[in-house]
Amino acid sequence: MEKFFTPRSMVVFGASVTKMNLGQIVLINNKHIGYPGELYGVGSQEGNVSGVPVYTKVADLPCVPDVAIFLTPARTVPALMEECGQKGITHVVIESGGFSEYSHGHHSLEEDVLAIARKYDMKVIGPNCVGVINFDYKMMMPFAFAKEVPSGGVLGLITQSGGVGSSYLQTFAGFGITAGKFVSIGNKLLLDEADFLEYLIQDPETRCIALYLEGFKRGRRFFDLARSCDKPIILQKSNRSKASAKIAQSHTTALSGDDAVVDGAMRQAGVIRVDDEMDLVSAVQVVGMPLMKGKRVAVLSRSGGHAVLTADACAKYGFEMTPFPPSFIEKLKTIYNTRVIAHQNPLDLGEIFDYTIFTDILEEALKLDEFDGVLFNHLYSADFEGEMSRAFLTGVKELVARYEKPVSLAMISEREEILDLQKKQPFPVFVSPLEAVEALYVSRSYYEKKTACQKRGRLEEYDLDLETVLCIRARCKKEKRIPLTDEALAICAAAGLQPVKSLPLKNENVPSRIALRYPLAAKLISRNASHKSDVGGVVVNIRSKKHLSEALAGMKSKIRNLKPSPAIDGYLIQEMAPAGVECFVGGRRDPAFGPVIVVGLGGIFIEIFKDTSIRLAPVTHSEAEAMIRELKAYPLLAGARGRDLADCQALQNVVCRISALLAACPEISEIDLNPVIVHPEGQGVSLVDARVFFQK
Ligand code: ADP
Ligand code: MG
Repeated sequence: MEKFFTPRSMVVFGASVTKMNLGQIVLINNKHIGYPGELYGVGSQEGNVSGVPVYTKVADLPCVPDVAIFLTPARTVPALMEECGQKGITHVVIESGGFSEYSHGHHSLEEDVLAIARKYDMKVIGPNCVGVINFDYKMMMPFAFAKEVPSGGVLGLITQSGGVGSSYLQTFAGFGITAGKFVSIGNKLLLDEADFLEYLIQDPETRCIALYLEGFKRGRRFFDLARSCDKPIILQKSNRSKASAKIAQSHTTALSGDDAVVDGAMRQAGVIRVDDEMDLVSAVQVVGMPLMKGKRVAVLSRSGGHAVLTADACAKYGFEMTPFPPSFIEKLKTIYNTRVIAHQNPLDLGEIFDYTIFTDILEEALKLDEFDGVLFNHLYSADFEGEMSRAFLTGVKELVARYEKPVSLAMISEREEILDLQKKQPFPVFVSPLEAVEALYVSRSYYEKKTACQKRGRLEEYDLDLETVLCIRARCKKEKRIPLTDEALAICAAAGLQPVKSLPLKNENVPSRIALRYPLAAKLISRNASHKSDVGGVVVNIRSKKHLSEALAGMKSKIRNLKPSPAIDGYLIQEMAPAGVECFVGGRRDPAFGPVIVVGLGGIFIEIFKDTSIRLAPVTHSEAEAMIRELKAYPLLAGARGRDLADCQALQNVVCRISALLAACPEISEIDLNPVIVHPEGQGVSLVDARVFFQK
């Protein structure tokens, strides 16, 4: 990988010696910015571009370049790559696009590229990308004009789209942020997001990693790397609305679309996910400061109105403006004469015009153990206070480093002034109290997620009865059907859970003695009606044998009259579970991320409320606990409005065990437990219904 970032020599394919073209631009760019290695071109005509020799054949190159860059039409790439392979070139960047449009015979061009890469053990970036930039090394592969590249950046950037990547770089420049390394990965035919994440994680110069992705190729690998990484990772992922290609056959699938899985996985790994470029910029800036380790914020404000706005923003993001301690107030009295202004948080600095006092007060606030960070509203006039404000900013920067706490600055002034300020120095400058609070929130939630990652504990090792699961699978395969409700519940039991006591019946004739206690529930067992209530296949609160016989007979005639009429594979009679909160636990297999576990508010309205929390399986107890706490309906479990506290421990146990089952048993493609009835604390849960799908 290092060769892509610090190549000692590069050859550009498709460099014209007569007219300006993309290949020529790459050569000229590198000349301009001072690339320290050797450059060569290969094109249809011999000659030179700005002193760079251009050959017509790979074989003529005087050495074996570290990297070959392709800017030739897609269909020419395989043959040229073959020549590179013969020459001994191992690192290839295919900037050309249009690969998917071509195919010949049974092969696509991409398959040809893959075959050659395999044959010569080549590493390939792209196709359809702009390649790598190493700012400090003064090397750039993109074909957009560039004159110079700034040094000293600590941000690593991975982008799927070259266009979005370039726009990031432009925007960063407006905020004084310099990237250190950049890679655009395009179609990810061979090297993908996980490969470059791995590289930037171990790269000593990179301290923060930002990504733009449209999808994941190796989500699980990415997740594992991100979770164990200490450097902040910020992701903008688009393509949110693309529905899962598969039609939802279970609640889990309906509730855990591809993008929701990304969200859950990134949360679990402590990756900061942002919605747009400006959020990305502000996240990059704020995580460059010490992190906000709690909710307590001291607000200092030059304007009373902005103090009020800040208070609203703090409330919105769950920050607490705890009162200043008396010692601080005493200290303030020694710093400036305070008659008019009340000493409360937010502290109004309206009457002060001496800038050294601002710094002194800020320092005192930063010293206080009562606060995790400070927000400073600095309202000023560029003409009169521009100079002083810049000096103040330098002071703030020093204090932040000294006290290891963040200071979120809302600098409120003329637009040109702020643009200039943001461009000329990299310390984060926000333009409103809300933006400043949002930044602190990003910092705090990143800190919380990362801490949760570190404290997630060990995965429990469960004794899972996989033999039973595989036995049911074999039976279903033979009979060409999905598991029936009683089998699905047996699979839950194989994960060490206890479904409510049930008895399957072949037909509607009730045996004279049944070992179940009334009241009972009766439900249809059918291979093609897995949503039983929808077809009148569930009767609850059955109090006697007579009532049970009637219920089964009634169910049978109702089902028979349906058009189309579902198969009757039997009936399941069950003891009624006591009351509780109906929750849902499910899992499925995501193509990029592997096994996924979902918990939510269950029952028949589940798809209406869509109140779910998702993680990659398997999960630890503390991860399962965080999932449950994250639900909007959590107060229902936590005893809101005089309810009993629910047995969240027992629900956690279901989440952990089902997640372990999914991880251990790749044959299961989807599983739904709905409802999992959660009883009051200490009384456990009741599993009354389940649905399982096996891999085809
Ligand atoms: P389906 O989801 O296929 O319609 P269920 O077996 O989940 O069928 O039953 C539907 C609803 O009936 C459940 O959400 C639950 O409220 C109630 N129910 C079913 N079985 C029981 C039971 N054994 N104890 C208590 N309530 C039950
Ligand atoms: Mg159900």
